[in-house]
Amino acid sequence: MTTVPRPQIAVVGSGPSGCYLAQAILRALPTAELTIFDRLVSPFGLVRYGVAADHQHTKAITRQFDRLFQGGGARFAGGIRIGDDVGLAALRDAFDAVILATGLPADRPLDVPGADLPGVVGAGAVTRALNAHPDAPTRLPALGGDVVLLGAGNVALDVLRFLVKDRSGYAESDVADEALAGYLAAPARRVVLVSRSAAAASKGDPQMLRELAALPRARYSVPDPAGPADPASPAGPADAGDRTAAARAAAVAALVDPDRGPFPGPEVELRFGAAPLRILGTERVTGVELDVAGERIVIPADAVISAIGFAGEPRDEVGRLIAETPPDPASGRLGAGLYRAGWAQRGPRGAIPENRASAKLVADELLADLASGALAVDGDRPGFAGLPPETRARAVDYEHWLVLDAHERSTAPADRVRRKLPDHDAMVGIARGDAAAPHPHP
Ligand SMILES: Cc1cc2nc3c(=O)[nH]c(=O)nc-3n(C[C@H](O)[C@H](O)[C@H](O)COP(=O)(O)OP(=O)(O)OC[C@H]3O[C@@H](n4cnc5c(N)ncnc54)[C@H](O)[C@@H]3O)c2cc1C
Repeated sequence: MTTVPRPQIAVVGSGPSGCYLAQAILRALPTAELTIFDRLVSPFGLVRYGVAADHQHTKAITRQFDRLFQGGGARFAGGIRIGDDVGLAALRDAFDAVILATGLPADRPLDVPGADLPGVVGAGAVTRALNAHPDAPTRLPALGGDVVLLGAGNVALDVLRFLVKDRSGYAESDVADEALAGYLAAPARRVVLVSRSAAAASKGDPQMLRELAALPRARYSVPDPAGPADPASPAGPADAGDRTAAARAAAVAALVDPDRGPFPGPEVELRFGAAPLRILGTERVTGVELDVAGERIVIPADAVISAIGFAGEPRDEVGRLIAETPPDPASGRLGAGLYRAGWAQRGPRGAIPENRASAKLVADELLADLASGALAVDGDRPGFAGLPPETRARAVDYEHWLVLDAHERSTAPADRVRRKLPDHDAMVGIARGDAAAPHPHP
């Protein structure tokens, strides 16, 4: 039996796909020396910075990912942006294999006239601010009384839930209180959610719609024929056999059920089967023109939030490579010893667990390349130890992260589970224990 020399493997990105990938590789190759880089101080990508603050149960997946670092199987190197702080070529020189699991961080641009008017904001920007992402401003832009939300996928439904909730809806969460308070000082009075698809065929999970119906907030209506309230009506889901479609239509019906009662909060119109034609306004947004079954209608808007998906962001060498390489769900191979996984591989679709399959596929490709000799491991590559000393010294390791994690938990207000710091440098300082802890409640 031949023994495979100890491969040095770099994973770029510590989101779900990077973590699933590390798990899959270490399971098959326990001797691999694996370093997970992240440009942020904190691990876990969108689990921390995308998943809604009021869905803490979803964030529990981090306990599983923690084990990667706890057992010493993988090294965390936070605060290092690959493609900028360390060039891709330098990384590939130091490691036998490099896997890019960098996600797709930018809001997909809205392709209608007027999309660049002030007042048009991406859902990613909103969810980042609510999650205290270091790249986001600490306050949300003022949204005004009339908000139009474009899209009806899970991210749109996360944003809708935020728009209808009051402060009590964030008990036991880690919401960024400054962003929440800014919104609650002048909350939306009317929200119009616009979906190109009919209700049953829209993208959101039925469970997310049911959660809205169960909230003691907001009144809902469905004014368009493409969005029937009655799932059994002839205009309901054509594919009645499709359980998810039927469940979605039933959940929408529950939202507009007259027995739901008159709850406080905004009036919410769900406009299914409606396509945005243009954003109206001169200085800033004043409305949205929609095509509803061939008819043009105008919805007044103080702000438009587009929740229509995500894209690559060419802000560094790695970001450019991912943004310019079309998704390929069938393979993660970008070249000899270079791979990609997760959203960076297959596009911005799917929940956290769906990244596991993509991670497994890429891990299998890497293993096949090792077995075939396409990926040669000669034992000469230094891995993390080969990076410049100043880069290694700057890296935030897992023990540092634990210090920051404990700080965030211990400084949380009474009704919050953690208080995230929104400032990268302050996070590094706390993590390293070389900065005075800021006052917990500014
Ligand atoms: C707003 C939002 C809410 C969501 N809510 C849910 C939910 O409730 N439940 C659910 O199951 N799924 C949810 N998802 C989907 C889920 O977050 C994704 O499926 C998953 O995070 C994709 O994993 P990833 O590892 O490919 O990317 P990401 O999670 O984006 O991780 C990428 C990581 O790479 C790092 N990185 C990027 N570039 C570099 C670089 N150049 N150098 C070093 N590091 C870099 C980033 O900092 C980040 O940590 C949500 C997604 C969004 C956008």
